[in-house]
Amino acid sequence: MVKLGLRSIVGKGAAIYVKREMNFGSGTKEFTVDCGGDLIPVVLTRKRVKNINLRIRCNQSVAVSAASHVPLKAIEELIREKAAWILKHFDRYAHQQKDRVVLFYENGDQLNYLGRTYILQVQEAIHREEVLADQDKIYLLIRANCSREHRDKMIDRWYREKAGYILNQSLEKNYPLLARHKIAKPALVIRKMKTRWGSCSLHKQKITLNLELVKMPPALIDYVVLHELVHFIHQNHSKAFYDCLSGLMPDWKERRKLLKEKGILG
Ligand SMILES: [Zn+2]
Repeated sequence: MVKLGLRSIVGKGAAIYVKREMNFGSGTKEFTVDCGGDLIPVVLTRKRVKNINLRIRCNQSVAVSAASHVPLKAIEELIREKAAWILKHFDRYAHQQKDRVVLFYENGDQLNYLGRTYILQVQEAIHREEVLADQDKIYLLIRANCSREHRDKMIDRWYREKAGYILNQSLEKNYPLLARHKIAKPALVIRKMKTRWGSCSLHKQKITLNLELVKMPPALIDYVVLHELVHFIHQNHSKAFYDCLSGLMPDWKERRKLLKEKGILG
């Protein structure tokens, strides 16, 4: 599985050494931390982790995982310490969400396709309505005065059509890399997903890919497809899994980094 939309913000530096043993039990706890008037919602999960791990979630909250002996106070302190940073990320997510919502598919809008930005040209259709692309423009040919929903549908259909072709092509290209493992070729399902670029079902022999992938550069599409294919040999994200992936795609870490930077969905 290749996740998206969440980002670790605290690495080793945030390790908090706690001398006192305190047991808060297991499970998930939700609370807010007052950071000078800004309330930051926190979802705390007790796990067997070394450090306190913080992740910004796209719904304007922070997911925290910490060992059971880390006191709540230490977690609150860390949130306050990182408040400016967290709020900056909340703003960024909100901004990105806004960008997505306000796209009315009008002349001059920017659309992403295969890692490149295209300028949208809306023109009145003389014959049939369609979407066409050239080197740097995407043309939306539609009847006059049609609704935003209709434009949305036309563009969405175009992306789906392209995704069907491009993502299948990536599967055709990457599947032979695993030939010696003799796995059956999985079927491909493409749909919109909020939190993942891709996932796989060994049982159903299928890979599900996010439609949004068609907006990413081909090298990143290949990374997601190969990542999912390798799961048919190694189910978990074990060392063996990553060894296999590295053997087939030595620069996968760079690709994953780029994907994380580019792709944050609401
Ligand atoms: Zn995975």
